[in-house]
Order: sequence, then C-alpha cells, then structure tokens
Amino acid sequence: MRKDFLPFSPPFLGEEEIAEVVDSLRSGWITTGPKTKRFEQEFAAFVDAPGALALSSCTAALHTALVVAGIGPGDEVITTPMTFTATVAVIEHVGARPVLVDIEPDTMNIDPKLVAAAVTDRTRAVIAVHYGGHPCDMDALQAICDQHDLLLVEDAAHAIPARYKGRMIGSGSNPVAYSFYATKNLTTAEGGMLTGDPAMIEKAAIYSLHGMNRDAWKRNDKTGSWRYDIVTPGAKYNMTDIQASMGLQQLKKMDGILARRREIVEMYRTALAPLEQFDLPVEREDCQSAWHLFPLRLREGALQVSRDEFIEAMRERNIGTSVHFIPVHTFTYYREKYGFVDEDYPIAFRESERLVSLPLHPGLSDQDVADVIEGVKDIG
Ligand SMILES: *Cc1c(COP(=O)(O)O)cnc(C)c1O
Repeated sequence: MRKDFLPFSPPFLGEEEIAEVVDSLRSGWITTGPKTKRFEQEFAAFVDAPGALALSSCTAALHTALVVAGIGPGDEVITTPMTFTATVAVIEHVGARPVLVDIEPDTMNIDPKLVAAAVTDRTRAVIAVHYGGHPCDMDALQAICDQHDLLLVEDAAHAIPARYKGRMIGSGSNPVAYSFYATKNLTTAEGGMLTGDPAMIEKAAIYSLHGMNRDAWKRNDKTGSWRYDIVTPGAKYNMTDIQASMGLQQLKKMDGILARRREIVEMYRTALAPLEQFDLPVEREDCQSAWHLFPLRLREGALQVSRDEFIEAMRERNIGTSVHFIPVHTFTYYREKYGFVDEDYPIAFRESERLVSLPLHPGLSDQDVADVIEGVKDIG
C-alpha cells in the first residue's frame, strides 16, 4: 500500500507559472492589464473562438452570459441536474426558472430529446454542460435552439480542450464558459473565460467591470482617462494579471496535459475494462473528450461493498477519489422551491448513486496509476 496520500486533483504548476507570477508582482501591474488581454487573445486562438473575455470564475462567465442575453424573471432556462451547483445557481441569480431534464446514460450529458420536450413559450436558453470533458450532442441541441429561437450556452468547465465533429468546443459564436479553478484542466487558482461573438463579449466586458463604458481597466494607465460613465450596474468579475500569468503558461502546456490524461485513461481502460464490476466512461466516435474526469460506475450487486464504502476503502489505501456530481435536483433549496423529485431524473439519480471519479491529472506517475488500479481491483 502507498505511504503518502494521493490527492484527487492537485494543481499542475511548474517553475514557468511561478516565474510569470513573480514577473507580474515585480511589474507594478497586478490586476487586469496587459497579461489578461494577452491571455484572452491566446486562449481565443487556442480554442478557435471569435472573441474571449477573462473573468474571475466560470460562475461569473455563466452569469454574465445570461445577463447580457437579457434573461430574467418570467424566463425559463433548461439544463442538466448532472452538474456543479453553479450552472443552476446562475439561472436563479438572474431571476429565471431552472428547468432540469435528465441525461443520456452513456455520456451522462443532457438528453436533447428531453430538452425538446421541455421547451415552453417561456424558454429562453439551454445550458449544455460537457460532463467530464465529453462534448454534448451539439448538433441536436443546436437544432432545437434554432427551431425555438433559444440561446445555447455551454458550460465548458471540464472541456479544455475538447472537440465535437472536429470543431473545438468554444469555436462557435454562442457563449461558452470555462473554469480555471484549482482542480480544472487549466488553472489560474480561481478564474474563468467567456468566449463567443465579439459584440456579446463587448457587452460582457462592460457588465463584468462595474458597467463602466470602454476599456475601464486602462483608467489608471498613462493612456487612460480618469473619466468614465456607468451604463449598467455591473458586477466585479474581472481577472487579474497574476491569474493571467498562470494561465499564459498553462496554455502552453495544454497539449501535453491532454496527452498525459489520455495515457492515464488508456491505462485505466486496459486494466479495468475486463472487470464485470465496473462500467467505464465512453468517448463517442465523433468526439474528443478533454478527459477532465474518469467517472467509474460500480455495477450494482457485482461488488462486495457499497459506493460509499468503496470511497472509504480507497481513502484507507491513501487514494483520494470524488463524486461528480451530487445531482442538483437533490439539494434542499431546489427540492423545496420547485418540488424536484428523483423520479423525474431517473438516469441522473441512478448513475449518481454508483459514481466514483478516480484521480486523473497529468502529475500522476505510472506507479500512482498502478496504485489506483490495484486499489480498485482489490476493493471491487
Ligand atoms: C467547476 C465547475 C463550475 C464552476 O467553476 P468556477 O470557476 O469555480 O466558478 C461550473 N460548472 C461545472 C460543471 C464545474 O465543474
């Protein structure tokens, strides 16, 4: 058994990130500035996005996208229960009503057939979450959104970098929100990015920084002016140059990071696919997953232990795991406000009860991966 604890998802940072952060600290410009602008440009180029705005989180990016689209009280937004609470909370933040629909059993992404069935005359948008980094069925979702004139927003917190039918997630003109939280594929400690059409990005930039008109971040620079106007009571969602420093260096490593994630996925597959106790994550033919997660599903009845006991036994072996996700419809706030019940989301509920995410990050050594596999086999 391993001596030291294997964390589930530690940040993958090197000397390059440290040097770039120190450079910012010494430069005298520590908040939104030239590095944030450069990070936006380089990120947009990396995902083929028409425009990009760096923000303080993915939650901020999702909220800003809904605000800029004018979604508010009386409106409905359709999304999935198999996500982090933030995806649904932002719908509440703008005063709209979240309408949750169930998932597809293989990818655990939102089911387009159920989206189509949930559209009413109050529906304004769909938020698609690329669960674990695997793209949603975007053509089917886009067709529904086109038919009913809905905005398709993507929660791409897991999906850096992912491809759907050859196209990068983030390359469209619709709003796509990324997370750079400490556990995500690319991290700036805290941070996020909103990509999409440049006109939408311009409005988002104003909203995200107090509602100040034009280039507000330059107002303390020599070329800037002290004079500004407020066109809307905006938020304070800007990214700092310290965060962007990390992001610029992380971006250079993304291809290597994905390659290592894939190697680890293949090791897990080779070792665990023959075992009848588990169902393994899939990758559809026309998709390339960003492999943010490796959600293992335990087959009911085929194991000696419950899911919770499995997680505890892994911890005793010094291996950190997690569960993605506790479905949002099960949380007190949503149950009490909307009366959501498990029977309305049978697949999300059933799958969530048997999910365990194994460690999957580029810092894992082959020995670490072997330790995880040994633990899974012994406990299962
Ligand atoms: C992490 C995560 C978020 C929130 O990201 P923040 O950057 O922490 O706001 C949103 N959606 C999903 C699916 C996530 O996993």
